[in-house]
Amino acid sequence: MALIQEPRPNEAPAALGEPRRITVLGSTGSVGQSTLDLVARAPGQFEVAALTAHSSVERLAEQALRFRPALAVIADPAGYKALKQRLAGTGIEVAAGAEAVTEAARRPAEWVMAAIVGAAGLEPTLAAIERGAVVGLANKETLVCAGDIVMAAVKRTGATLLPVDSEHSAIFQVFEFARAHAVARIILTASGGPFRDVHPSQLGMVTPEQAVAHPNWSMGAKISVDSATMMNKGLEVIEAAHLFPVPEDRIEIVVHPQSVIHSMVEYIDGSVLAQLGTPDMRTPISYALAWPTRMEAPSKRLDFATLGALTFEPPDYERFPALRLARQALQTGGNAPTILNAANEAAVAAFLARRIRFLDIVRVVEETLDAIANTSLATLAEVRDVDAAAREEAGRRIDSLPRLV
Ligand code: NAD
Ligand code: MG
Repeated sequence: MALIQEPRPNEAPAALGEPRRITVLGSTGSVGQSTLDLVARAPGQFEVAALTAHSSVERLAEQALRFRPALAVIADPAGYKALKQRLAGTGIEVAAGAEAVTEAARRPAEWVMAAIVGAAGLEPTLAAIERGAVVGLANKETLVCAGDIVMAAVKRTGATLLPVDSEHSAIFQVFEFARAHAVARIILTASGGPFRDVHPSQLGMVTPEQAVAHPNWSMGAKISVDSATMMNKGLEVIEAAHLFPVPEDRIEIVVHPQSVIHSMVEYIDGSVLAQLGTPDMRTPISYALAWPTRMEAPSKRLDFATLGALTFEPPDYERFPALRLARQALQTGGNAPTILNAANEAAVAAFLARRIRFLDIVRVVEETLDAIANTSLATLAEVRDVDAAAREEAGRRIDSLPRLV
């Protein structure tokens, strides 16, 4: 048998077949909007079942009028009236509240994009998993705060979890699951964020505007701050440990400021497989949207002739202590990753609100981890309790810090 396939005349890219019915949780965010951008570019290939947002009524209404979902949900009940008015006469069902977001995830749709930011995405994401859907997972905090519970649900229900985070999509695309024993290590690439070269003595004074100005990626505010503290890479180590059968000590980080290689897998024979592309989330999102086939995405192509150098350096654990905290939380296990995530969400929100300084973010997370005893976590109710306790503890630390003027 020939190992190399006969050359075939060019064929048109395969269509996805029947329109795929999709729900987008967090449709008004950065990932949510990119998802709908891809849907708009593939007419006839997708039908939108439900869209959900936190409080951006106007953006959600515009999306609903354009994509005609059966259901549009606004998590913040204060937005219900306005959304209902905007969608009057369209036949689109309107609902509000956190429970309605989870209900949207339960509605029949074979594919669900989990693009809510933070632990608020946990219950809706789990609801989609519980009914065995194909879930595109952008919401990494779900795996950080309840990874064992989420992965057990995936196993039990036969749901399909497709990573959307660019690093994990890269690994997924080159990971030989049938020969996982032959994986030597996973190498997560990190851009290093906006403060890679800023002198440590200046980090104390950086503003939210500087922290969210990422050099390569355009993203929501929370993940942009996480990239600046490098907590994002720490969360991604935890995410990778849940998604791939590789122990924590074989998940490495390398700083690669150009963000061209999105991550790599090294095998025991020394081969390293990488996935490359320009930094545009529409590539990993489209991979998940079209899976198990591929679809066209409008991302700019790599031009190797003009690309210049790709560089690599080790991560600086001194300058970015969040990396150490996240690894320790993963090693400790039990409630530690849940505490890490909740405290980080509280601290990042306080930083964005100009209540605390940049360097306080990771300090608050560390102190919160130290203040709460390590316990095991078995149920969703326990996750909720630990998450609430950690937010409360972090809130006390934030309150104790001097007000900024
Ligand atoms: P974003 O802030 O731009 O959007 C968040 C979305 O979630 C919005 O639609 C918002 O309305 C909704 N939302 C926020 N709080 C909510 C709540 N309490 N209840 C219900 N809905 C709520 O965030 P993003 O940058 O799109 O990121 C979304 C997720 O994807 C995050 O977990 C992030 O870490 C992950 N991610 C994002 C990128 C990126 O390029 N933006 C890349 C990789 C992973
Ligand atoms: Mg990422």
